[in-house]
Amino acid sequence: VKYTYMFGAGQTEGKSDMKNLLGGKGANLAEMANLNIPVPPGFTITTEACTHYLANKGLTDEMQTEILAAVEKLENATGKKLGDNADPLLVSVRSGARISMPGMMDTVLNLGLNDTSVEGLSSKTENPRFAYDCYRRFISMFSDVVLNIEFSKFEKALEAQKKKSGIESDTNLSVDDLKEIIAVSKKIVKDEKGFDFPQNPQEQLFMAINAVFDSWNSQRAITYRKINNIPGDWGTAVNVQSMVYGNMGEMSGTGVAFTRNPSTGENKFFGEYLINAQGEDVVAGIRTPSEISTLEAKIPDAYKQLIDICQTLEKHFKDMQDIEFTIEEGCLYMLQTRSGKRTAKSATTIAVEMVEEGLIDKKTAVMRVTPAQIDQLLHPMIDPKCEQKVIAKGLPASPGAAVGKVVFTPEDAEEMVEKGEKVILVRTETSPEDIGGMYVAEGVLTVRGGMTSHAAVVGRGMGKPCVVGCGDITISESEDKKFYVGDLTISEHDYITIDGSTGSVILGQMPLIPPEINEDIGMLLDWADEFRTLGVRANADNPEDAIKALELGAEGIGLCRTEHMFFEDDRIPVVRSMILSETKAEREKYLAELLPMQRKDFTEILRVMQGKPVTIRYLDPPLHEFLPKVFELKSHLEDLKNGSAALPQGITLEEETERIEKMIDRVVNLHELNPMLGHRGCRLGITYPEIYNMQTRAIIEAACSLHKEGIVVKPELMIPLVGHVRELEITKKDVDETAQKVMDECGVQIEYTVGTMIELPRATMTADQIARKADFFSFGTNDLTQTTFGFSRDDVAKFIPLYIEEGILPVDPFVAIDQEGVGELMKIGVKKGKSAKPDLKMGICGEHGGEPSSIRFAYSIGLNYVSCSPYRVPIARLTAAQASI
Ligand code: ADP
Ligand code: MG
Ligand code: MG
Repeated sequence: VKYTYMFGAGQTEGKSDMKNLLGGKGANLAEMANLNIPVPPGFTITTEACTHYLANKGLTDEMQTEILAAVEKLENATGKKLGDNADPLLVSVRSGARISMPGMMDTVLNLGLNDTSVEGLSSKTENPRFAYDCYRRFISMFSDVVLNIEFSKFEKALEAQKKKSGIESDTNLSVDDLKEIIAVSKKIVKDEKGFDFPQNPQEQLFMAINAVFDSWNSQRAITYRKINNIPGDWGTAVNVQSMVYGNMGEMSGTGVAFTRNPSTGENKFFGEYLINAQGEDVVAGIRTPSEISTLEAKIPDAYKQLIDICQTLEKHFKDMQDIEFTIEEGCLYMLQTRSGKRTAKSATTIAVEMVEEGLIDKKTAVMRVTPAQIDQLLHPMIDPKCEQKVIAKGLPASPGAAVGKVVFTPEDAEEMVEKGEKVILVRTETSPEDIGGMYVAEGVLTVRGGMTSHAAVVGRGMGKPCVVGCGDITISESEDKKFYVGDLTISEHDYITIDGSTGSVILGQMPLIPPEINEDIGMLLDWADEFRTLGVRANADNPEDAIKALELGAEGIGLCRTEHMFFEDDRIPVVRSMILSETKAEREKYLAELLPMQRKDFTEILRVMQGKPVTIRYLDPPLHEFLPKVFELKSHLEDLKNGSAALPQGITLEEETERIEKMIDRVVNLHELNPMLGHRGCRLGITYPEIYNMQTRAIIEAACSLHKEGIVVKPELMIPLVGHVRELEITKKDVDETAQKVMDECGVQIEYTVGTMIELPRATMTADQIARKADFFSFGTNDLTQTTFGFSRDDVAKFIPLYIEEGILPVDPFVAIDQEGVGELMKIGVKKGKSAKPDLKMGICGEHGGEPSSIRFAYSIGLNYVSCSPYRVPIARLTAAQASI
């Protein structure tokens, strides 16, 4: 096996499609070298070497020999030698997994320096300040990431020296200052570790390589992989690369940039840099970086070259690139390129514009935006009508607004969220250790750092509202968990709102509203519609939702629940009287009162949908859901007796008491021990056919009158909770009879269909019999999940979180379809249904219809459409397209 691959200096062995072996960073360094872009030469130790190392618990002799041979090639290419006393080769050691992964070991720069080679570097470059700056950086970085000594110890030594010499900026440290810091730093190592800072460059190198490999199994990395579903056996590569120096003076510097704006998508070079700085100074927020365009005036040639290279890279990779560069005495070097993380807004804008520029095709554009990003676009923003008490402003690093209680540590964030609270994580700056806390927080606010700081990049990646570099606020150094802004003090658990689109920090809880879909998203979703074969409908119970659904691209209504209509204020008394009726005649009297109301509902919805299919489900929930609670009735009775509640006009206390007591009896009577498995669904339609008959009449009357107006209507009548074909037969017979009667009365012939929900295991197993009687199926995966697992949807919160934590279930089956169990039943239902009726139309309603993995599943088993809440329609459109591309 080959464990090392050279790059740069004309001996590049890798390329960009070797990411699995070389990691993302290594593969793209090789690719840049292949494109003749200036890259400091180096070599990549493969991810296979990592898995081998981990299995073997160390580097084998063979691997060590190969690494030393690669070092020798690098020495020959650069004309310098590792550990040379006159002109030492210095290298960086950089981790790089297949995909960029926080949690992996931080980079070590300037490796190869020791007490003698630092003098060589100093005299060779005639720049002692630079040489000693490199050495003090190396000692602190190596000690931090390889020896696990707290970085703050070295920072303190640096600060102490600055104070002692009365200087502000790191760049003003004198050679003597630096020597002093180096001495103190070495002492820290000795005190902490009991051994001297390693002086042998080869030993330094192997220690660093081992540390990178070990970091693959660090807690942070494991947590990140878990959150992001990354397999543990990928391993990371290590890049050993000759150093270029951004800290050699005013013509040197380092920066990070994006070829387009990662926040808005605007096609404009975007980035930050620092003069006379090295490595991660830009990201670390130690000094405040400058906006990239100002580099043009300072180092014009390098700037021009940088712009050229960025264009080359974009054209080559056909995607927005996130790049890292260093300028050494006017000479530009590229240190990294990769597809840039971006906000949802930016992703859609870039995808659409790149199609317009002819860089990518529509299919590629559709694949470039993830369902999660579309979801992010549907995240709330602060209601613009509301006055905002902005207490501070930071950088708008990741858009969207978030409201929550202030917490100051990731641990507190996780703890509060466990308890069901919403939190905003407020930090001086974030680091990879904060990932867990950031993940659970509604939003993140940091005091330091720029648009490319850790918090900003991670926030955008997670689609989490994020405000960074908010220097207006100070977090108290001590443990008192407060932050200050002006003369305000905000304590832990106070509410704040942050707006990641404007950078505002607002006191209190602002009302949030959902955003509008913009032109680019509209365009992208139109393209998605060209490619998808799976239909997308919405669940909507009223005209407003139906309008929203149409706006968001729904092709019909897959589920219109009639019970929600019964809950409206002016109706509930009639509904209650209907339920409390003791005779059929009495019940019919109240149903007759409900009829015009239901007819109006259906007229409006069918009118809005103009000929698009509308699936209307008959009354489904247990009746007692509509009734008041016994304790409420009892306390009302008390109030009437002691005069604190008023009697209805013209009714005596005795009459009212009797009425309420009767109601209590009836409520008690209707009480069910297991309502989800009780008197509901088609069981209601069978025991009280007059209820469903009224609903049929309302629908068909509405359809007939719209038909007369010349409006096309396509009602699909759906019977819920069928488990036995006879249940469907009986209810369908009633539906057809009533429908025919109404149509005869109106003198109109309407095309309607009658289908059923498939939401009980028995229905899936007997789907062939049911299909013979049904015009369509709609899988009700919420109930199907309940009844398959035997989990009560309303009680799962007591145990599902633990199930997920313990790995008993990978995800909540009410969020994503359990494909092995529930999904298997669905497959049986589909197969049996089609065996009886090959062109039977089948869809899925229920929350799963808007969840990407469930949508892909629905597509894979051959359903015709998914139906979901209106706001998830765009997610469904995109996912459906991606499933079929
Ligand atoms: P990360 O994955 O955290 O971005 P990198 O390995 O990209 O870590 O290193 C971070 C920074 O260190 C780079 O952006 C660059 O500024 C600096 N760096 C890494 N290697 C070199 C090198 N060979 N010469 C100069 N600077 C380097
Ligand atoms: Mg880093
Ligand atoms: Mg990097």
